[in-house]
Parts: sequence; structure tokens; C-alpha cells
Amino acid sequence: MADVKPLYDTYNRVPLVFERGHGVWLETDTGERYLDFAAGIAVNSLGHTHPHLVEALKAQADKLWHLSNVHEIPGQTRMAERLTRVTFADKVFFTNSGAEALECAIKTARRHFYVNGQPERYRIITMEGAFHGRTLATIAAGGQAKYLEGFGPKVEGFDQVPFDDLDAVKAAVTEHTAAILVEPVQGEGGVRPLSSETLRALRELCDEQGILLVLDEVQSGVGRTGKLFAHEWAGIEPDIMAIAKGIGGGFPFGACLATAEAADGMTFGTHGTTYGGNPLAMAVGNAVLDVILDEGFLPHVNDIALLLRQGLASLKDRYPDLIKDVRGTGLLLGIQCAKSNADLVMAMRNENLLGVPAGDNVVRLLPPLIVTAEEAREALSRIEAALDMLSHKSP
Ligand SMILES: *Cc1c(COP(=O)(O)O)cnc(C)c1O
Repeated sequence: MADVKPLYDTYNRVPLVFERGHGVWLETDTGERYLDFAAGIAVNSLGHTHPHLVEALKAQADKLWHLSNVHEIPGQTRMAERLTRVTFADKVFFTNSGAEALECAIKTARRHFYVNGQPERYRIITMEGAFHGRTLATIAAGGQAKYLEGFGPKVEGFDQVPFDDLDAVKAAVTEHTAAILVEPVQGEGGVRPLSSETLRALRELCDEQGILLVLDEVQSGVGRTGKLFAHEWAGIEPDIMAIAKGIGGGFPFGACLATAEAADGMTFGTHGTTYGGNPLAMAVGNAVLDVILDEGFLPHVNDIALLLRQGLASLKDRYPDLIKDVRGTGLLLGIQCAKSNADLVMAMRNENLLGVPAGDNVVRLLPPLIVTAEEAREALSRIEAALDMLSHKSP
């Protein structure tokens, strides 16, 4: 079996090998530079090798990497204090990934009703097009056939309704419902935002029905949309929220945040993780917060977002045969293609610009949040070149 590759074939990898990165730029092993508007799928929130993160990681590396969660981890307490101060949450559980943060969110919601005498309330309503991760429970929550196929019985307890269909959500609530779980802006689903009215209506519905609102802000959180968390645009607060991606700036970790009431079932011994919240992760996470919580940070994100939005709108006007729609919030932007999104991603790559394909024929632009106006303009001109190339191709 000489031709069996040692890695699982679950990814179709781009034939480029990046060796180093700095800020919004990546460099290949042959010295070619790329403008990175993928950011490891919204992970490199502060770009590559941000000096403050490098310094925090190196300093911690010389002190202590890992400790079990049976010990006090001061960086974890500090990070949780900071996250609870700037959000709705009273309590935080640190994880290693987004899916694991969602698992914790799902377990937290179910346990809440269990310890409050309503164990029959365990079902969770989700929306079509959702993406919540690749574990068995999160593929059931996401409900996408392509991710569920062949993996045995779907984990019980998820009821899916059409995207942004409030009446369908209302109709789906039963005496078995524990929570509604949504992304304020669907990322993988094609940069599809829920309107502020819908988010407010979901909050009201949860209050009326005595059920929990769980938000998946793994992609939309940590400054990505120009607010610290996307739900802030709607002026609502969830009961439970999963985050990851941008919070680690490239160090893999996530967190589940909850109100004290929602987390009341998560008592001693009910949940755990070996690695979640270890000292290395927390050193980087606290360093990410140092930068993102700085006063000038979010205004910068919004300025650049406006510049990109306007630039993309004018490209849409000029290439109506190629661009159907431009959408998104902050630096979670999507170009909905009239033709193939894969072709646009490829044409952009030919211009040394990275983007990310998404559902609904969309190309996502997810630059590091530290992208400058000049770099944003450079990206627009590369997108224009890519569109120009595509428009000259035979239909
Ligand atoms: C990426 C993502 C996840 C899964 O995160 P992993 O770290 O890959 O497990 C969950 N929800 C949303 C909205 C995401 O974008």
C-alpha cells in the first residue's frame, strides 16, 4: 500500500505550504507573500505572530505549560473574571475547541432543567444551515445531512426549523424544549445574519416559555462583527454562549459562558476536561483580551468593515454577473457569487489573497481584526483583479 497517505483524507488541501506569517501576511516556503483574509477561519483575530501574543506565550512557556484542573490556575480565574465583567455571564468553563464549548453549552442547558425538576425538558431547537461543530452532538445540532451521514444514529434531542423562521420556532417549542440554539450570524452557512428583530423575538419567546437562549458565537464573537459579541447589536443577552476561534488568536481553546442560574446544574463532578484552560492557553487568551478590550480596538474594526463593505458594494455594481449579494457584519463578510464560489476563491488565490468558501455559494472574508485600511484596499484591488479574470473567462 505504498500510495496510502498517512493523513486522513478528510481535507482536500490547497497546494501551498506556508512557513511563516506576520500580521495579515503569510509567506510560503518559496517566499511568496499572501494576504490572509481567511485568518485560519476567523481564528487569527490579531493576525500572525502578534508581538504581544508571542511575548505572552514565550514567557509562559518558560514557566509552566499544563496543570490539571484539580489545581488553581490563576490565569483561568483572571480570564473568567474579565469575560464575566464584559458580558452577560457569571460563570465560564474553558474548553479546547468550539465544538467542545457547544457540548458544554448543550449539557449546561439540559442539566439546568434536570436539577430544577424538569428532566423532560432536554430538547434544543436549532436552525437550518447551522454549523456547531463536528462531534456527534454538534452534528446533530447542526442537522446537516452531509455531516451526519454514515455516523450511526443521530444524537437525540434536536429539532430543526427553517432559517430565521420565527413562526416555525414558536411552533417547535413543546414541554420538552430546554433551549433555542442559534448563531447570531451563520458562518459556515454562508454569512447569514439573524436580524436584530429575530434575535429580540427569540429572547422574548425564551422568557415567555421559561426556556434558555443559547448562542453560538464561536465565529461571530470576540470583536469579529465590530462589537465584542454579535448579539450586542440586537441589544439582547443570551443565557449561555459558546465561544472559541478568535479568543485564542491561534492557540486552540474555547469557552462556555453562562449566567449563574443557567449553570446551576453544572455542579462538582458533572463535567470536565483535561486540557481546557491550561496555563499556556490562558496566557495567550489573556493577551488577546489585553488587545481586544482596548478602547480603540472595536472602532478600528468598524472603520475597516465600512471601507470593505463600500468597496465590495461597488464591485457588486460593476460585476453584477459575478456577485449576487454582499453581506455580513463587521469583518465577518460574505460575497454571494452568481457563479461558483470555488472559482472565486481560486481566482483570489491566484491574486495571492486567501478567502474561505461557505454555504449558499458564498466566499467569506475574515481578515485578522488588526488589518489596516491600506491592506483592506489592497485586498479589494486583488478581489477586483480576480473578478476581472473571471469575467473574461468563457461563461
Ligand atoms: C468553527 C465553528 C464551530 C466549531 O469549532 P471547532 O473549534 O472547529 O470545534 C462551532 N460553531 C461555529 C459557529 C463555528 O464557526
